[in-house]
Amino acid sequence: MNNKPSKVIIITGASSGIGEAAARLLAQTGARLVLAARRTERLQTIVSEIVQEGGDAVYLQTDVTSAEDLEKLARFALQQYGRIDVLVNNAGVMPASMLQELKVHEWDQMIDVNIKGVLYGIAAVLPVMREQQSGHIINLSSVAGYSVSPSSAVYSATKYAVRAISEGLRQEESPTSHIRSTIISPGMTDTELAHTISSPEIRAMAGQMNSMAISPYSIARAIVYAINEPEDTSVNEIVVRPTILP
Ligand code: NDP
Repeated sequence: MNNKPSKVIIITGASSGIGEAAARLLAQTGARLVLAARRTERLQTIVSEIVQEGGDAVYLQTDVTSAEDLEKLARFALQQYGRIDVLVNNAGVMPASMLQELKVHEWDQMIDVNIKGVLYGIAAVLPVMREQQSGHIINLSSVAGYSVSPSSAVYSATKYAVRAISEGLRQEESPTSHIRSTIISPGMTDTELAHTISSPEIRAMAGQMNSMAISPYSIARAIVYAINEPEDTSVNEIVVRPTILP
């Protein structure tokens, strides 16, 4: 029998989509969860349902564009559970648009959430994990982190950056502090991600493609797999996309 205590796992962007699916699935495996996002009513509902089903979860309102919020989140996890085993840097936004539309504010938003949010998450948990001499940071990139298409330039740039940051983290931390690093790169997944697209034509295009999207649980299963591999095994990169897409 495995008597090891269940892992303490922080998930950002846990109020919908992939983060919510990962939370529900990980709760079934006995993990102790700290869920973070801005929409607290959603988080409250998810936490109550997990707890009703016998799981262990708490939540804290967090805006990942604030380094201070992420520090508070890490402190909250430590107060609740005494350690941090895994951070899933999942929060992300995708207000896709053509560069010529000059939606500079949306470019800033993607950089702030998708890149800085990931870095702030790492900054908040790295000292704790180094002290523990163990930990696992999972970063959500995308198939858009491997190739660019019209309207995805800035979003893709942020997801390329996530892969670079994760690989740097792996090279620096893995041999010394034994902190594992995983990049999860989903293809089209049925979530609320396209809701932030403000260009009507691009939102319509995204809507048409949605019939091909896979369930957020397909991505959540990859996250659970990476977490539950033995500590000497570091799953570095997983791409999960709809079967019917090239
Ligand atoms: P959703 O829109 O369903 O979920 C995004 C989550 O991010 C929400 O919980 C949202 O919560 C949170 N979020 C957004 N901004 C912030 C912020 N400033 N601070 C804290 N949380 C924030 O989309 P997905 O589940 O699809 O997205 C999850 C990840 O998967 C993202 O990184 C996305 O880029 C990636 N991905 C998704 C794909 C897809 O096809 N769906 C494909 C490839 C990658 P709240 O608004 O409550 O703060």
